[in-house]
Amino acid sequence: MKKQQNKIYLYKRNPYKKADFNMWMAFPGPESFALSSLGFLWMFKSIDETDDINIEAIYQDTASTRVPVENVSLMGFSFSFDMDIFTILGMLEQHKIPLKSSERTAEHPLIFAGGPVITANPVPYKDFFDFFIIGDGEDLNLLVARICRENREKNRQEILRILSEIEGIYVPTVRQNSVKKVTKRLDECIYTPVISENAFFKNTFIIEVERGCANRCGFCLASYLNLPVRFVSYEKIIDTIELGLKYTDKIALLGAQITAHPQFKEICAYIYDKITSGKKISMSISSMRVDSFCPEVVRTLVAAGQKNTTLAIEAGSERLRRVINKNLTEDQIFKAVDIARENGLKGFKFYGMLGLPTETCDDLDEMLSLAEKIKQRYKGFDISFGFSSFVPKANTPFQWCGREDTKSLEKKVQYLKKELHKIGVKAQFSSIKWDYYQAVLSRGDEKLTDFILNAYKNGFKLGSFKSSAKNKINTDYYALENYPYEMPLPWDFIDTKPGKTFLTEESKRLLSEKRCVV
Ligand code: SF4
Repeated sequence: MKKQQNKIYLYKRNPYKKADFNMWMAFPGPESFALSSLGFLWMFKSIDETDDINIEAIYQDTASTRVPVENVSLMGFSFSFDMDIFTILGMLEQHKIPLKSSERTAEHPLIFAGGPVITANPVPYKDFFDFFIIGDGEDLNLLVARICRENREKNRQEILRILSEIEGIYVPTVRQNSVKKVTKRLDECIYTPVISENAFFKNTFIIEVERGCANRCGFCLASYLNLPVRFVSYEKIIDTIELGLKYTDKIALLGAQITAHPQFKEICAYIYDKITSGKKISMSISSMRVDSFCPEVVRTLVAAGQKNTTLAIEAGSERLRRVINKNLTEDQIFKAVDIARENGLKGFKFYGMLGLPTETCDDLDEMLSLAEKIKQRYKGFDISFGFSSFVPKANTPFQWCGREDTKSLEKKVQYLKKELHKIGVKAQFSSIKWDYYQAVLSRGDEKLTDFILNAYKNGFKLGSFKSSAKNKINTDYYALENYPYEMPLPWDFIDTKPGKTFLTEESKRLLSEKRCVV
């Protein structure tokens, strides 16, 4: 353990490394966000621990680098959100690296990216990167760095050809009929290897207790990209919690459906016992499902300092919740609020999504009626709502569904704002226009290269997206159109489980509003 610049490294670093290969790991955001990004930090650690590769972390706000760009052979970007592409292009330009892979030469590093957006659909970004990691990157990242180091005397195209033969690597300039997504076994606990007071989640030790969610909501990338769901063993989680508590009293448990861990109650009981025996622990968890609310979990959260929690109900009506596969009844929602209140939580934030496939005005009115009932039934309990709008994501059952048009969604926002205000419920809304452009990218193809470049050069504000598309790209085609099931999709060559046949059947089943029992 070593403390450097307000950072505690939980692994042994070698300050005298004599590596002959330099790599940058780049995060498209400020350093504080990167220091709270488990995946980024873990991948950095795995290469930092080697003796033969010298790795440096680069952020959006990195002013100067230890290793000059001309000595860097490989640069990998963590790519989690569609809009990250604009920060990535900015970072390439800042370091004087040509934006298009075709304009780079032997003097430039090979540039790659990995992350959920890339795994779902890398196609709109293929002209900007030399290669991509498809799937879980923790192990592949190190393998890729090693291959690039071993072959450093070869030319770029030869190295790329070698990489293209590795499962989970997509090289746009090499012909590949299909690229298989790589899935990591979760037989170890992934945790924050660097604790820092400069992190967005200050001094917090984050532990991944599971990956994926078995619920398979029709729009949910976090679920579909991470099938099969994997849980870390209870023993490993407890050992990791103990490791973190040596350095900080703030821990966060992470996972798409963390309360589904078969021993989640026992994990909570372990923490609760420590707190009641006098150990100071502040704990948060990333998400809870209504049907997993139980007194044991809530009392642990409260003892660990949590005052409010969030609950994603997505849709206002039971009908629409069935369509999206959320399958929650109003009674279950009330029961969750009862348990939360009786066990000491002070408030709830509900998350909803507007414009889900088949949504009607009745569904919105049912959302309002639910908000009103909760408000009246739980006087003094802090209730608020947060809304985003539906963005179709590649490799999910709703990938064929277009968005509702922007004007109609904005009317819905205004209606909900007005009506929720009348009943005294606070609400926040994502930007419908930004969500539209997110959808353009998420179902994009290679024709978007110039659109992305122009939007970047024009400052990537909303107006610049509009002017970049004008007369050249029909953005409505990507964002709004319903695609026929038989149509080949740009990302079909990504080989993921459960696969296109399953997604097609699931999509038809959900949209025909049949009830699903998972
Ligand atoms: S319950 Fe949440 S994490 Fe699970 S599939 Fe649904 S939206 Fe995704």
